[in-house]
Amino acid sequence: MKKRSQSKSGICYLVGAGPGDPGLLTMRGAELLRQAEVVIYDYLCNPTLLQQAPATAEKIYVGKSAGNHTLLQEEINELLVTSTQAGKLVVRLKGGDPFLFGRGGEEAEALAAAGMKFEIVPGVTSAIGGLAYAGIPVTHRASNSMLTIFTGHEDPSKKESTLDYRALATIAGTKVMLMGVERLGKICEEFLAAGMDQNTPVALVRWASTPRQQTLTGTLATIAEKAKREHFEAPAVAVFGEVVPLREKLNWFETRPLFGKRIAVTRTREKASELVVALRNLGADAYELPTIRIEPVQEKKDREAFAEAVVQAHHYDWIIFTSPNGVAHFFEAFFKLHQDARELGNAKIAAIGPGTAQKIKEYHFEIDLMPPKFVAESLLQEFKKLGVENLKMLLPRASGARELLAVELENCGAIVDDVPVYQTIGVTEDASGGLQRFAAEGADLVTFTSGSTAQHFKNLLEKKSISLPEKLVLASIGPVTSSVMKELGMAVGLEAKQHDIPGLVEAVVDFFEVTGNG
Ligand code: SAH
Repeated sequence: MKKRSQSKSGICYLVGAGPGDPGLLTMRGAELLRQAEVVIYDYLCNPTLLQQAPATAEKIYVGKSAGNHTLLQEEINELLVTSTQAGKLVVRLKGGDPFLFGRGGEEAEALAAAGMKFEIVPGVTSAIGGLAYAGIPVTHRASNSMLTIFTGHEDPSKKESTLDYRALATIAGTKVMLMGVERLGKICEEFLAAGMDQNTPVALVRWASTPRQQTLTGTLATIAEKAKREHFEAPAVAVFGEVVPLREKLNWFETRPLFGKRIAVTRTREKASELVVALRNLGADAYELPTIRIEPVQEKKDREAFAEAVVQAHHYDWIIFTSPNGVAHFFEAFFKLHQDARELGNAKIAAIGPGTAQKIKEYHFEIDLMPPKFVAESLLQEFKKLGVENLKMLLPRASGARELLAVELENCGAIVDDVPVYQTIGVTEDASGGLQRFAAEGADLVTFTSGSTAQHFKNLLEKKSISLPEKLVLASIGPVTSSVMKELGMAVGLEAKQHDIPGLVEAVVDFFEVTGNG
């Protein structure tokens, strides 16, 4: 088979992006996005999916939200054809499934007519998957064994409706309507006039499968009025039928502990994802707002002291790690210099907490000591129990203020080399888009996992003249971070009892459980 690069022929993939939850993109879709040279995407595609495409890929928004057409459909078709003709690997990313409404069929026809290569990658449709996120199965053996999907938005250029509401109203089973929530009143009237039971349960689900999901339930007689009163707007799926009340038992998504909570995570870009994922899995609308970047120490004297400590590593009785960053920087340097792990000699290894311990284990070293509480005081207590007189200790740490731990260990008679191995730099660029989001939408809560994240968060907001939203809760991982926050004049809304990521997540959940959903 000829390789694409040799033939230079373009190809266009019509890819279903799913209803919103980025996890609902298919593996095939993700694979193609990673190779895309051009991505042409819609209003209903979750923009975070674009991060999967190469940074060099051209990303073109052709979205339309009701009445506000960025490009005409003919222009979109034309764009697909010309991009493919130019020899590109084009991903046409479409909300839900590409062949259920949204004119995917027409786009494929245009490509076929122009003789372009194309493939279809089906997706999870909002009509089925979106409703599943509201706890509504579209069929159920006991009640509805048939499904009809129709559009509530007729092509305005059509003179007469092609939808036969009389036939629709009398057909058995579940009915799902996409588009046209704004015409819901009219549509319900048509159904009622056609003799459909006015007590038919109806649900509207908007922004299904996203943290903004909202569900409104009623009956054929009441739903339109309710939707109007509550300004329940597009995009929404409407479902009519006996399956709707199953939601009372099956509403799994909106009942997750952090559902709908907007949480900004201020760690470094690399570190944020673990916390973001944990919060998202509990239903939060969590996003990265990186305030710091970690890099190796730059100053000559620091670099020399670090190199010396790595060379002499086997001379220490203890190497004490107080952060995963310290571990990573130390062992990266260690293995650059030494071929043999045994160069560490008999040095014992202490970790301040499980996150740090985990990082040490990644380098295949066991932990000789971890304190019961994951703070310096607790570690010190443990060392006092062991006795440290005349023991040589290495403390690879962040540059900046000298650690109290080193001072206290020295007071107990230890010989301590307190060596900065990495430094924390405040970032101002908004690579993740989190800062823009924070400025535009704010957050319910912001997490801080170190004093430096708090310090640089404050600097960043001041520099960009962004003020803190009212009612914003500031969450701290532990007492050290909290004291820095207090010094900065930031009110600590909650502090984790266990000073690591799982502990912080638990504290956030507890906080919202107590304060409720308001
Ligand atoms: N191809 C898409 C549908 C495109 S038509 C699919 O398979 O889902 C656009 C309509 O889809 C919207 O007006 C709305 O009715 C529905 N829709 C798409 N995504 C949605 C979502 N996340 N929540 C609610 N409705 C959605």
